[in-house]
Amino acid sequence: MRNQISRKSERPYRRGLVWLRNDLRVADNTALYRADRGCRQLAAVFIACPQTWASHGDGDNVVAFRLRTLAQLQRQLGDRHIPLYFLELPAFADVPAAIAQIVRKLEIDALFANAEYPLNERRRDAQVRDALKEIPVPVEYSSDRTLIPPGSLTTNSGDGFKVFTPFKRAFIARHGDEPFSPLPAPQARSADHGAQWPEWIALPGDNNLVRKIPQAVGDYSVADGDREHVLDWPVGESAGAAYLEDFSAKIADYHRQRDFPAADATSRLSPYLNCGAVSIRQCVQMALAENGGRWAGSSDGANTWLNELLWREFYQHLVLNYPRVCCNKPFKPETDAVPWSEDAENFARWCAGNTGVPIVDAAMRQLNETGWMHNRLRMVVASFLTKNLLIDWRRGERYFMERLVDADFAANNGGWQWAASTGTDAAPYFRVFNPYSQSKKFDPGGEFIRAFLPELAAVAAKDIHCPPPLEGYPSPICDVHKSRKYAIDVFANLKSQ
Ligand SMILES: Cc1cc2nc3c(=O)[nH]c(=O)nc-3n(C[C@H](O)[C@H](O)[C@H](O)COP(=O)(O)OP(=O)(O)OC[C@H]3O[C@@H](n4cnc5c(N)ncnc54)[C@H](O)[C@@H]3O)c2cc1C
Repeated sequence: MRNQISRKSERPYRRGLVWLRNDLRVADNTALYRADRGCRQLAAVFIACPQTWASHGDGDNVVAFRLRTLAQLQRQLGDRHIPLYFLELPAFADVPAAIAQIVRKLEIDALFANAEYPLNERRRDAQVRDALKEIPVPVEYSSDRTLIPPGSLTTNSGDGFKVFTPFKRAFIARHGDEPFSPLPAPQARSADHGAQWPEWIALPGDNNLVRKIPQAVGDYSVADGDREHVLDWPVGESAGAAYLEDFSAKIADYHRQRDFPAADATSRLSPYLNCGAVSIRQCVQMALAENGGRWAGSSDGANTWLNELLWREFYQHLVLNYPRVCCNKPFKPETDAVPWSEDAENFARWCAGNTGVPIVDAAMRQLNETGWMHNRLRMVVASFLTKNLLIDWRRGERYFMERLVDADFAANNGGWQWAASTGTDAAPYFRVFNPYSQSKKFDPGGEFIRAFLPELAAVAAKDIHCPPPLEGYPSPICDVHKSRKYAIDVFANLKSQ
């Protein structure tokens, strides 16, 4: 399906439109590739829906990253004389009628997009298909965000996998020999081609479809002082490619270094994968090349990294197979009865990185200052919030969405439900991370803590994980042993009920 437009039927459509969403790149973009091969004239459109994005919890950081990436993409498409139109509408509900209008006004013969899997996105896409049926204009949704289409890999009884290891085994058994080769970028069109498309068109209401991304969008700035660092992330496809290239030199050591937050040992590709500046196939291709073309090959580093990419795949499939996770519900319904604490002050201290537990605080400040947090620490702070403070995982999930530059519903929801023991294949409720042992094990010299907690800069390595009372730094928010025991009792009670 990915590249099967045959020579004979090449460019059967006169005018095609690619609707871009979280797939903001020209290379290995399945919908763009298929539109390029299928249409003699080609344009792209991006529709910003701030109201829906806000209702999904997308914060300024992820939105800024997305829109700044879009501005880069417009330049790349412009170099190929393929116009990119921009439209802002409040909500997904406004999209189907608007796309029908655009299709009519631009005389589009076919619409192409890459499929998205959360529930609201799927509903929106089905409504767009229905709206265009009336014209009639065909709509083609391609599988692109994942290696294989969610829903296509099932257990023997036909259900979606709920447990990672059998999912991984089945994936490798059925798809382990596939090269997952990236597709080429669209060919450049003539300058003439660009000139055949209008600069803007007026849509009903106050809406304009414009070829120029408004300056405010391209430069999207994050006003809050403490979030300025988010702008340090370079954006666009070339930045994503540079991160991938850079990581290819480190991948061999990934299995040894990846859990140490002070080491720059993971790829930091998550923001690029999530907005689509890098494709999952480009990542897999690099890792397979390191690994002799095999999923379980000779490089322990590549094996471990490929495993992480499969966790990403697993969570994306889960969202389609078990849409209840999109409805603010735990995967395990019985865990909805946990008597979560409503302590507003404890939650505020966790958010601000003021709990008095250095590794938790340093991690939260990394999130607040850079828009990103190391994976080991995401697990530590999520466990701390949901078990030691017994605060509802959904509040932590929302705070991460608000702050992360790589915020992604599937991975974030999966990670939070894993840590809170409410999810599928989650951490068993009686296994609660001890933040002090995690700190000693993964930041033994306290380098990471010192980098984000200047108030502990002078504390010796042996004391930094659990410092003595210190002016300017709070004492611990809770006793980790007592709170751990309490959480285990709460979860055990649920089981017995
Ligand atoms: C509570 C919690 C919340 C999380 N929220 C998000 C989120 O909003 N967005 C997000 O992309 N990831 C999330 N993760 C997963 C993971 O922490 C990040 O993907 C990873 O830290 C990104 O850094 P990296 O690109 O250097 O990862 P690398 O270690 O280089 O891994 C490569 C890629 O594999 C994928 N990946 C790695 N680990 C996981 C995982 N556990 N689950 C799913 N995919 C994974 C990511 O796409 C990542 O970019 C969350 C994990 C937890 C425990």
